[in-house]
Amino acid sequence: MQLASLLRRTLLKLGQRRFEGTATHGFEPRASLLAAIDPNMCNGDACTSRCAPEASLQGILASNRRWAEQQVARSPQFFSKLVDTQTPEWLWIGCSDSRVPANELLGLGPGEVFVQRNVGNLATHKDMNVMSCMEYGVTILKVKHIIVCGHYGCGAVQGALTLPCKTPGLVNLWIQDIRETRDKNIESLCKLKGVDQVNKLVELNVMQQVFNVCTSPIVQQAWDAGQPLAVHGLVYALTDGILKQLTPAITSLGDFEGFSQQNELDGLKHLSLSVLAHFSFEREVLKRASMSPEAVGGAGMPVSPDTSGSAAAEPVPAP
Ligand SMILES: [Zn+2]
Repeated sequence: MQLASLLRRTLLKLGQRRFEGTATHGFEPRASLLAAIDPNMCNGDACTSRCAPEASLQGILASNRRWAEQQVARSPQFFSKLVDTQTPEWLWIGCSDSRVPANELLGLGPGEVFVQRNVGNLATHKDMNVMSCMEYGVTILKVKHIIVCGHYGCGAVQGALTLPCKTPGLVNLWIQDIRETRDKNIESLCKLKGVDQVNKLVELNVMQQVFNVCTSPIVQQAWDAGQPLAVHGLVYALTDGILKQLTPAITSLGDFEGFSQQNELDGLKHLSLSVLAHFSFEREVLKRASMSPEAVGGAGMPVSPDTSGSAAAEPVPAP
């Protein structure tokens, strides 16, 4: 028993040394030898035992070491430049889909893009994760661009086109926001079928998230303060790796006035009208808030003219 244990430990050390200097294949001889000693141990590619995850991790760690060495070989100061500061110009809000990696498809390296990814590239105001990321990106890092990027064939969007029972689990709850976008655009979506319908909702979902970003307090405050910040709506094609621009660069609320005149893309006009309606409501609130409390019922919120004054003070009937 002791001899077997000693031999096993020795083989592990030898295998580890060999593995560290080679790619994943370096694990295989060690795996075969260990399997000969203990049938329950790893037996290589067909391994189903507990050491398979460890082998996978070692492969990833070896790949990481090679990557780090390559960066230093190209630029000896690569990591020392990044260690104390980050000054990305771009904030990316994209889908968690493994085929849509922000840095790679933008051709940007570490330190150049601040990234938020979630299922379906959502940017709802109630999501603390995305809003915290936006707040840090805009107010601290001072990014100059926010990209909202969807991708054709998105599984989250496909799920939103089916009955809730077809998408079990928490994802079903998460994609409810996409279902709401679906319902708002049911007329144009029902003219399409299959992949065209999915991809249309992908674009509309991007538009909705652009709307959410533009109407967020973070972006509004940045624009009010004169901070240069552009919001972009893009969609990515898995088939050829190309990004398509869905919106012009949006750099202020005034941009939406011009977009409302365009109708090249249903979603753009829809976005523009949504924003204009949103801010006409906001302007009305501000206008009424600047009036005397008596004129607006003292609440600072909009009330219809015929319910102002004494009418607004009437007691509310019991339910
Ligand atoms: Zn997706």
